[in-house]
Amino acid sequence: MQRIVVLAGGIGGARFLRGLKAAAPEADITVIGNTGDDIHLFGLKVCPDLDTVMYTLGGGINEEQGWGRTDETFKVKEELAAYGVGPEWFGLGDRDFATHIVRSQMLAAGYPLSAVTEALCDRWQPGVRLIPMSDDRVETHVAVELDGEQKAIHFQEYWVRLRASVDALAVVPVGAEQAKPAPGVLEAIAEADVVLFPPSNPVVSVGTILAVPGIREAIADAGVPVVGLSPIVGDAPVRGMADKVLAAVGVESSAAAVAEHYGSGLLDGWLVDTVDKGAVEQVETAGIRCRAVPLMMTDLAATAEMARAALELAEEVRG
Ligand code: GDP
Ligand code: CA
Repeated sequence: MQRIVVLAGGIGGARFLRGLKAAAPEADITVIGNTGDDIHLFGLKVCPDLDTVMYTLGGGINEEQGWGRTDETFKVKEELAAYGVGPEWFGLGDRDFATHIVRSQMLAAGYPLSAVTEALCDRWQPGVRLIPMSDDRVETHVAVELDGEQKAIHFQEYWVRLRASVDALAVVPVGAEQAKPAPGVLEAIAEADVVLFPPSNPVVSVGTILAVPGIREAIADAGVPVVGLSPIVGDAPVRGMADKVLAAVGVESSAAAVAEHYGSGLLDGWLVDTVDKGAVEQVETAGIRCRAVPLMMTDLAATAEMARAALELAEEVRG
């Protein structure tokens, strides 16, 4: 049985995983999820990326939005607002609240996040093993200049409240240096036949996972093909504001620049969209095998085709 490890953020990672499951139905898939986006709200621990993967693969996602639950209502949020209790800019629906209540209750009882995630997945049956990158608290902060003053704000405040409308001066995964990979993470990488980077945000999703000491090294040392898919198509993110956080780490918004940012020490293969076929040579010159294929996840069939192309490229670089 083929063992595949995927480092995933939220929407881009989750949608890709749906295609991967269709392309490789027999494979044993372990997903290492980003927890740098996690935030404490109303006394609850919210893990947006883990939940997006869990809901998407488990059939509970709001398809149009790409995050949150289907058939959602917002009564609790309205009641909180009536008390003047915010933040109002973060959308938490009633169904979604239940997930965060269960998670927070289990964490308070002493269970690590990895065990809590496994328990939540018992209900959703995502068909993959979903492990948070770490059980330790890591929180991505973004340095910005607001009203003439420099300050660091939580990633969600930058992304959701400000919609990345100001420049990100720096992106810091606070706590990452002291964090340990969650149980099972390094083992899954060591036993993998292939490691995939889906078209997730290279800085605040995949980059944050790689910032947990030991994970990058384990992937580089695993001796198996590592293949990524570009989240940048035609010099712009397909959705979201990834260009803002790429600029903060000095990386241009192009499919080739993202591949070079990961580097040939980590990445063996890279898929760019057909509109970026001009970038293939640059990526190959950097020592990374590169192919141009359609990379728009318009439907399940197109996404499964992307996953197939990634697995084929992995076999090619395996040699
Ligand atoms: P987030 O945590 O919800 O922001 O999700 P991820 O980090 O997993 O993915 C976000 C990235 O997915 C963005 O940078 C998008 O450019 C990328 N993305 C979304 N849809 C597509 C798609 O259809 N094709 C490609 N190539 N990238 C996509
Ligand atoms: Ca995210």
